[in-house]
Amino acid sequence: MADRTDRTMIEFYGGLGVIGGSKIMISTPNARVLLDMGLDIPDGLDLFREPVRRRCGGELADYLNTGQAPELPGIYDPAQLPVQGPRADRSEALAVGDPRPTAIFLSHPHIDHDGMLGFVRAELSCHAHPETVELHRALAISGLGPVGRPVTLQPTPPGTAITVGDIVVEPIEVDHDVPGACGFLISTPDGRIGYTGDFNLHRNGGRRTSAFAERIRGVDALITETTLLSFDPLPAEPITEDEVLTVIGDRLAGPQLQLISAYERDVERAQAIIDLARQRGRTMIWPGQQATFLGLLGVRDVVTWDDSRRQRKAHQIAVANAIAAGTQPTTVGLAEVWDRPSDFLVQTDSADLPSLLDLPISVGTGWLHSQGEPLGPFMSTWQPFMDWLEHLGVEVVPAGSSGHAGPQALIEMVKQIAPGTVYPIHGFRPETAAHLLGAPQTEARTIVPAAGIRYPLR
Ligand SMILES: [Zn+2]
Repeated sequence: MADRTDRTMIEFYGGLGVIGGSKIMISTPNARVLLDMGLDIPDGLDLFREPVRRRCGGELADYLNTGQAPELPGIYDPAQLPVQGPRADRSEALAVGDPRPTAIFLSHPHIDHDGMLGFVRAELSCHAHPETVELHRALAISGLGPVGRPVTLQPTPPGTAITVGDIVVEPIEVDHDVPGACGFLISTPDGRIGYTGDFNLHRNGGRRTSAFAERIRGVDALITETTLLSFDPLPAEPITEDEVLTVIGDRLAGPQLQLISAYERDVERAQAIIDLARQRGRTMIWPGQQATFLGLLGVRDVVTWDDSRRQRKAHQIAVANAIAAGTQPTTVGLAEVWDRPSDFLVQTDSADLPSLLDLPISVGTGWLHSQGEPLGPFMSTWQPFMDWLEHLGVEVVPAGSSGHAGPQALIEMVKQIAPGTVYPIHGFRPETAAHLLGAPQTEARTIVPAAGIRYPLR
């Protein structure tokens, strides 16, 4: 019989003091469940930032050798572990599979949650919402998917309880800014754990999130994202999608060409912007990869460039793949855009700044920033992008809203769930988050998790 202290354990392999990189292992002596497999976002210097190019096929080895991936036992594909380099001596131990049944559960398809799925051992099942599975298929065809081996996901509808040894995992939908977002209720022999994934209460009235909170009410431990507690001062509660569309709509009323960077994985907002542009007499034009991705997911009125605008190779390949998959994207040529600039809204390609020179940019052209790349000043691609916009006289217009819960919404959630213990992760300031989410605001005990520590559920 196992000792009480080595029964259900929680270990954190990412998301500590950083936004993203979530990887949480729940284990008993009989089973293991890994929640998310996000790409690590270094809290210090990111050695792989632009203009560094990752080495195709050797990404996991390079991440492990630089300490930018954690040593997850029995999870990695042995074929991708380093054979030389500073950490190669660890590969033998990492290559050994764990005898316990092990499964991975993906909360939602954002790179800081799914970016390392291509590094996983082939025999491990990875469960995801059916919409996430569809989205991953579209990512793969568009050349936008995770690196590593092709990802195979097990479609697992919300509400379906999956048994892994003596652990039961139930995915429950939450509101976020990508299709198929889920949190999880994990039942173990020692008690119940709730994991939020990423969530908010301001999209679609927060109905899914509220139902999730109700379903996991009273869990022994709650692992929650704390993205919007990362900043000092704390940000205001995020604006609603209607308010985002009002900002965009105002800008589309003008007589000039308008530019935008929206995040294509926010499929709902992408459709809303396309529809809004059409109502204002404009056609929204996407780069080939994004057009292919959105078209495969059934988004209406997706338009991309014809051959008159030279796009990067990746876009050309994606469009060819779309045609091979039986979807013929609608195209627009540069001449039409030069003839009638005010009839168009153009999604920018942050990896191809000189392509801005193709466009009829004039005084009054704005760049609507709506969660697309470059994401913000923390990205090395941000400043060059800003320099180009300034050079061309393009005004930057904030036109987005976070997919994460605002500070008040987070506190409300914890109150509603009333967990025994809260583990704040996925934020820059976990100590502040713990302070804000614990007593006296709520009745929960808080633990700021650290790497390399196994936390007993009891
Ligand atoms: Zn997310």
